[in-house]
Amino acid sequence: MSSARRSSKLSSPELPSPLLPSFDEASALVAACATKLARIRPAVERVPLRQALGRVLAEPLRADIDQPPFPRSTRDGFACRAAEASTHRPLTLAGSTRAGQTPSGSLPRGTVWEIMTGAPVPTGADAVIMLEHVEESDTNVKESRAHAAETGSASARTIRLLPPRTVRKGENIVARAAQAREGEELLPIGSSIASAQIALAASCGSTELNVFVKPRVAILSTGDELVPIHSIPGPSQIRNSSSAMLAALVSAAGGDPWILPIARDTAKSLSAALARAAVADLLLITGGVSAGKFDLVEPALIRAGARFHFTGVRIQPGKPLVFGEMSRIVTTKIQKQNSAKRCCCIFGLPGNPVSSAVTFLLFAAPVVAALAGRSAHGPRFALARLTEDVKTKTGLTRFLPAACTFSGPTPEVALVPWQGSGDLAAMARANCFLVVPEDADRLHAGSTVRILLS
Ligand code: AMP
Ligand code: MG
Repeated sequence: MSSARRSSKLSSPELPSPLLPSFDEASALVAACATKLARIRPAVERVPLRQALGRVLAEPLRADIDQPPFPRSTRDGFACRAAEASTHRPLTLAGSTRAGQTPSGSLPRGTVWEIMTGAPVPTGADAVIMLEHVEESDTNVKESRAHAAETGSASARTIRLLPPRTVRKGENIVARAAQAREGEELLPIGSSIASAQIALAASCGSTELNVFVKPRVAILSTGDELVPIHSIPGPSQIRNSSSAMLAALVSAAGGDPWILPIARDTAKSLSAALARAAVADLLLITGGVSAGKFDLVEPALIRAGARFHFTGVRIQPGKPLVFGEMSRIVTTKIQKQNSAKRCCCIFGLPGNPVSSAVTFLLFAAPVVAALAGRSAHGPRFALARLTEDVKTKTGLTRFLPAACTFSGPTPEVALVPWQGSGDLAAMARANCFLVVPEDADRLHAGSTVRILLS
């Protein structure tokens, strides 16, 4: 716990920026907590493969058979001996195999074997030459080939390579077990399951998978001006857009979002909401963490026994971000199983939606991922070419809504015009955030810059 960095938004106005942790320092504190949390394995549940998207593997996926289980042709063409095909002498067609068939014999010397993509290569053959790269002796090629494919019988026709060249051994063949040996680990524990992992599991015959139970992430929006999204806002009210946004972000990070009713800017309402939320693995609070008269989240957290890792970061947007933990109320059997996870991590995210999104991506998403058992935790950064000059002030690391295009040879990024961190329309036009380092007052058009991927 870094008490030296602890701010006192309670007793004094905001701490001067230099006393707050930098972006890197705050990231390191969060990463250290995420690493500790990741050591505690979540409980395990079994789900049908089709419901495994976005889940995290709780046991390694192993190949149940060799992959591929036979030497497989990757082309329609002719299986051959590479050395013989390279001589450019005509080779007699000895047989034919299509996908799903087993070759009726091995490849006799001086012959080729017609083969279709996905079919097993006959023993004796060590290459497949593509259909498009041969000259056949017979003019009635199609008919003769269809007959051979159907019957698997030999034909008197000959083929030769055109143009002549040296055929490489192994050309257009994936050797048996080249992708994986039976029993080999294909995916480790902690792998996130996307479509490719589902395909791989399906190829291993897994109709169900053991995955980690998702961490429960409570989302508590605070503010007297907030109304639920189905309401028509009064003259001074706004809809609670952040809870819905954070639920989507939590799901994407591997958590199970739990939206709590809006809390009011009163000590009583906040304390009641915190008591309710304390059963969660992680609590995301939005609003009420700045230095205003009605920003009462920090005092409420202190009353609830919370300890803070930091209460502000030198970033913009998101400077008032709070990160801490409080004791967790353990209620369910699964929670008891994970008894080491006695704390409920807390992020107090600034109320403006763009600030909430940025601080979630930078700091809360890695914690959700760690609680979910995912092996990769950090925020995702990439490099792009800046298309326009950007002028800012030094002193804070900035994350500004930007649009990155991927149509050219290099990704190109430009800022999206915005009206500050409440501008949801600007955020919806953006697909990333431009990172402006703390010491930069200007980024030049044409330079390579970092972007935070959303
Ligand atoms: P606060 O951090 O509570 O001072 O709020 C900063 C700004 O964000 C204010 O304009 C709030 O109305 C707005 N805001 C706070 N919470 C939400 C929310 N859940 N959804 C949309 N806007 C919000
Ligand atoms: Mg507020």
